[in-house]
Amino acid sequence: MSEYVYYEGFTLIDGTGSQPYHNAGMIVEDGTVKKVVKEGDALPEGKHRVVDLAGKTVMPGLINSHVHIIMEPIGNPFSLLEKESDVKTAMRGVVNLQKTLRSGVTYFRDLGGHNYIDLELKKCLSEGMIEGPDFLVSGKVITMTGGHGHQMGRECDGVSEVRKAAREQLKAGVDVVKIMATGGVMTPGVEPGSPQLTREEMQAAVEEANKAGRKTATHAQGTTGIKNAVLAGIDSVEHGIFLDDEVIEMMIERDVYLVPTLVAPYFIVEYGVEGGIPEYAVEKSKRVMESHFDSFRKAYKAGVKIAMGTDAGTPFNMHERAACELKLMVEAGANPMDAIVYSTKAAAQLLGVDASHGTLEEGKAADFIVLKEDPLKNMSILLDAEQVYKAGKPVK
Ligand SMILES: [Zn+2]
Repeated sequence: MSEYVYYEGFTLIDGTGSQPYHNAGMIVEDGTVKKVVKEGDALPEGKHRVVDLAGKTVMPGLINSHVHIIMEPIGNPFSLLEKESDVKTAMRGVVNLQKTLRSGVTYFRDLGGHNYIDLELKKCLSEGMIEGPDFLVSGKVITMTGGHGHQMGRECDGVSEVRKAAREQLKAGVDVVKIMATGGVMTPGVEPGSPQLTREEMQAAVEEANKAGRKTATHAQGTTGIKNAVLAGIDSVEHGIFLDDEVIEMMIERDVYLVPTLVAPYFIVEYGVEGGIPEYAVEKSKRVMESHFDSFRKAYKAGVKIAMGTDAGTPFNMHERAACELKLMVEAGANPMDAIVYSTKAAAQLLGVDASHGTLEEGKAADFIVLKEDPLKNMSILLDAEQVYKAGKPVK
């Protein structure tokens, strides 16, 4: 029998939404949680090592549902991608993977890469060449000609071309298909509020993804575009800046997740043109920020399914600062425990990995973080994880 590790004496937030459990213990063996031990439980026989975590809080590693791992969060990330070689971009991805993991994110979903570098990084990770969280990839975003994200996406127009573009992504091996339903902040000349790909075009992409057993996500900010995407059968609405009551109802009815990414426009406004961010992006972010927070609040109160995502890689939206999104959700009125569930269990459900990840329960991956304080009382402590474990192994 192999040796197990017994972590003891901590406060456990298990990610299910249950109240924290004090003086808990956890048995980890072969990268998996074998048992959560409550006071008075006997330890199993066998060789083991004890790790004393008295006074600490333990919770599942964060799951970030919206990341661009190959993007550098400078003022204008696209200009960098256009200039540099794929080799350099890939190296950047390697560094960002490490930063992400060490900050406490143990799983993420990439929602837009460049030249399929995201897929290559995933192969390197699975071969053990590099260190990082587990992740899902989407390859190239599917966008209309000149549409949002066209700098790195697959431009296509009309139902059959969009269908083909989705098939290309699936052929390349993506886990999720990303579609652009509206304009956005970071692309010059497009309007966040305006619809882009039509409902029929998106429906073709969703059909192809679903046929291959894959889910779909949409960048969607304006109301009409969000409705088009929901009617097309999308699984998650990213950003969701202009939500009205009707679309909120539609999302609840169809089990569509909202991934708010509140930090994305927030950091653009915070750092501004002085930070090297293009003026059009700052101007658009200023215009949408209030609606963004209002929409989040409305969706939260109405009971829309929510998963945490940051859009890491956009200006000053650092790969190691996912915790800022939880802080903003709480500032916007979310209960701290809800923010944690959105970042663990709910995100795992959206990603379709909840059978093995997202909570600290028997049989799940031993992906967890150790904190000096209770994040329910001080969310900022998540920015300073004392230790991060991936499959039972400390990463720092
Ligand atoms: Zn994004």
